[in-house]
Amino acid sequence: MIQQTPVMRVCISCRQTYDRKNLLKVTKDHKRGIIFQTGMGRSAYICNSKKCYSDSKIKKKLQKALKTLLEPEFIDFFEKEIASYSE
Ligand SMILES: [Zn+2]
Repeated sequence: MIQQTPVMRVCISCRQTYDRKNLLKVTKDHKRGIIFQTGMGRSAYICNSKKCYSDSKIKKKLQKALKTLLEPEFIDFFEKEIASYSE
């Protein structure tokens, strides 16, 4: 048996700490750009709370956390990802 130790991460919106499994991970991948749930590079986490992922400042918070400028189209990808994730 492999023992699973929960990896705790902070939601960039509410600043609460959660098990990483319950967070949406957004990564600025070195090769692939901004991707969700996978990738290597600077990452930000958002919890599964409508208050956080529907935050009107979420893009700004992500830009700050990832230290990058997000394309205007990013928010469309983000909303699609959130829709599949919160089902
Ligand atoms: Zn949150």
